[in-house]
Amino acid sequence: MIRTAYAVINFKAIAHNVQQARLVAPNSKIMAVIKANAYGHGLLRVAQTLNGLVDGFAVARVQEGVRLRKAGLQQRIVILEGFTECEELQNLLNYDLEASLHSPHQLEILNQQQHQSKPLNTWVKIDTGMNRLGFKSHEVTSVYEQLNVCKAVKKPLNFMTHFANADDKNDLKTLHQIALFNQLTANYEGEKSIANSAGILAWQTSHTDWVRAGIMLFGISPFADSTGKQLGLQPLMSLHSRLIAVRHVAADETVGYSGTWTSPHETKLGVVAIGYGDGYPRYAKMGTPVLVNGERVPLVGRVSMDMITVDLGLNSTAKAGDDVILWGENLPVEEIAICSDTIPYTLVCGITPRVEIV
Ligand SMILES: *Cc1c(COP(=O)(O)O)cnc(C)c1O
Repeated sequence: MIRTAYAVINFKAIAHNVQQARLVAPNSKIMAVIKANAYGHGLLRVAQTLNGLVDGFAVARVQEGVRLRKAGLQQRIVILEGFTECEELQNLLNYDLEASLHSPHQLEILNQQQHQSKPLNTWVKIDTGMNRLGFKSHEVTSVYEQLNVCKAVKKPLNFMTHFANADDKNDLKTLHQIALFNQLTANYEGEKSIANSAGILAWQTSHTDWVRAGIMLFGISPFADSTGKQLGLQPLMSLHSRLIAVRHVAADETVGYSGTWTSPHETKLGVVAIGYGDGYPRYAKMGTPVLVNGERVPLVGRVSMDMITVDLGLNSTAKAGDDVILWGENLPVEEIAICSDTIPYTLVCGITPRVEIV
């Protein structure tokens, strides 16, 4: 079958990216964060490729962890959002998953489960400034004391926190978060984890027992001012499609919904079979680069569900069926993210099931 929209994943690049993480954080274990279908790259294939290369895994939800266990993955798996229901706690125990503990609600559930034969391996999440999940500084001692006498949790307890602004290399908030976490956990013996990809790459003092590498494993930069390639990473994903029509347009014709683009002169317009129904960003601006037969041409007109239009130029020899790359080799996803007022995370995560992964 001829493929229309498809994403090519270069799984080999992941070993190189793990190696880069090891080089910058040589004394830390690496937890590969592969939530959200491994950032759109395919959960199980990515997990299998990383198996043996990293020291553990993390996902956001219990179901994601269960899927990994059912596929035979043996390594440690941390559930970053933990559990909210008793039934989820049962699944964590049944499938030997570890959980982030961030709320009094979870402590209540654990206290009702003291009769469990198997204790849960937990990561106490401390809110050092993100203000999303986690216990506040003043709660840490009391939470520790409660958990320490709770038979449902394994000892020693592990600790983690999460950065709010680590992608801004000049933001001192990150140093404050590191100092606060170290101070709050100094007397506790369990394993500690602070850094995400930005922490790994830019904040050396955040490299504790474990670092949590997400976006960088996929060869993508966590920073707005650089690409993965510039950081020595190799991107995994290229998003491809084809030209399905090449049409002449005269000067002063409008193109697409709401006629947001008017041809300034006679030109050839390429119609590419990709749209927001595939995960191409609806808010990609006029002029966003697209590679047609390896040459950059500008997106013109609105992105629709199944198609986009590009200005090929009057002298173009491109024809229906020709290859188009939306991001990938020679067209960094970081650049497309800037053109769409978003971050590359949303682009790779947003690939829809209609896009075949090859
Ligand atoms: C997603 C996530 C990470 C990984 O972040 P990247 O920026 O992709 O490296 C690490 N820790 C937590 C708690 C997360 O939610």
